[in-house]
Amino acid sequence: MVNLLNFNQQQLAEYFSSLGEKPFRAKQLMRWMHHFGVLDLDQMTDIAKVLREKLRQEAQFALPDIQLEQVSDDGTRKWLVGTNNFKDGTSNSVETVFIPEDDRGTLCISSQVGCALECTFCSTGRQGFNRNLNVSEIIGQLWIANNALRQAPGYDLLPPGERIISNVVMMGMGEPLANYDNVVTAMQIMLDDSAYGLSRRRVTLSTSGMVPAMDKLKEDCPVALAVSLHAPNDALRDEIVPINKKYPIKELMAACERYLVKAPRDFITFEYVMLDGVNDTLEHAKQLMEAVRDVPCKFNLIPFNPFPNSGYGTSKPMQIRAFRDMLMQAGYVVTVRKTRGEDIDAACGQLAGKVLDKTRRTQRTFAIQPDNRS
Ligand code: SAH
Ligand code: SF4
Repeated sequence: MVNLLNFNQQQLAEYFSSLGEKPFRAKQLMRWMHHFGVLDLDQMTDIAKVLREKLRQEAQFALPDIQLEQVSDDGTRKWLVGTNNFKDGTSNSVETVFIPEDDRGTLCISSQVGCALECTFCSTGRQGFNRNLNVSEIIGQLWIANNALRQAPGYDLLPPGERIISNVVMMGMGEPLANYDNVVTAMQIMLDDSAYGLSRRRVTLSTSGMVPAMDKLKEDCPVALAVSLHAPNDALRDEIVPINKKYPIKELMAACERYLVKAPRDFITFEYVMLDGVNDTLEHAKQLMEAVRDVPCKFNLIPFNPFPNSGYGTSKPMQIRAFRDMLMQAGYVVTVRKTRGEDIDAACGQLAGKVLDKTRRTQRTFAIQPDNRS
């Protein structure tokens, strides 16, 4: 069976052509599936009955399962989205988080079950890598959240035409650029006016710095870009964001400059996790400004979110303030990320899901953790 949720509009049009149908059917079906959230062929009354019958026989709408939905005291919602239905019979799952704010609603979407990149302070990275999510599992997270939020109390109070999910960030579990094709197709569906119609400026992809894929992304699907920098020099970044050994800071900065030529925003957001005693001194802040000198950027400081046995501590509030002030005094726009959904473990870097580590390197990762960081 063909899963219709795996297609962007162009692929759907090609599929319809292969059935001898007119390509404009693709637009109709995209609207039903994604704009209206309808996955029942009987309700798609503007599609000819004969075609609906054909689709019933050879196609399906297969969403990932919702294993758990939690609502935090502050309104943050988290879904554990399961992939039980896979051939090998394993149960593995990822997490999706909705963060309501006064002027927007942001959905944080996962791209992989686990992650192979081994950033030392990241709970997902510690679990190792299991597999890539397919398109329906990525866009399915948006579908599921949209559908659930439409039924939640307060939805009817939303001004007409306003989207409950106005922003998407590819900042959940996994490295989105390591699952390039599926992530790009899913983002094309997010941007498609017949589907979710999100603006490119309101879809943000966060990467740890996979340089060749960044260059490709700016051509294929330029969206707002966040880069997980986390360290101001190669020695420290090699240690805490190991992909740096392959694409060191200088190369990463050059890639950011190239990206900005095509980007929908005129700055890169640099994410910087504040790890107590590791990367949070004023000397680090100075080095950081030197490192990003040629890249128009903003900074997002993320107080480290602890998880069991992480070996790291969160920088003291005073230290974060001093670090922030130094950057601000130099003219940078700096935000300090607020931790949301703490009571349901929905904070950045705490997303765990259920990962069956196929890399079997969890032990090794723990073994190299310095134990003098509390
Ligand atoms: N793989 C991508 C996107 C997912 S992680 C990336 O690395 O950019 C989203 C952000 O959360 C990244 O900046 C990541 O470094 C950060 N992060 C990971 N673990 C964290 C933790 N324990 N506390 C705070 N931020 C964390
Ligand atoms: Fe992977 Fe991002 Fe976590 Fe690094 S921070 S291990 S790239 S999910």
